[in-house]
Amino acid sequence: MKVGGPYFSGQKPHVCGCYNPDITVIFDDPKTMKRQLFCINHGYVEEETKIIVAVYPVPKPTDEWREKERNRLRSRG
Ligand SMILES: [Zn+2]
Repeated sequence: MKVGGPYFSGQKPHVCGCYNPDITVIFDDPKTMKRQLFCINHGYVEEETKIIVAVYPVPKPTDEWREKERNRLRSRG
């Protein structure tokens, strides 16, 4: 599968090798200090344990939102 991104120069990939907005944070769990990501190429991905100070549950983004984000990020590059 062809992986999109980076969408601007210097953009860093997430653990699975994909880039925002193809991969987005959907949940931070302060109990386990695990960050859960959703990747359109790999499905759910659990990022490494990190110190989480706040929880931001975010709904799974729509394709429309991702397309807007790609355009926004490309225009930054
Ligand atoms: Zn991925």
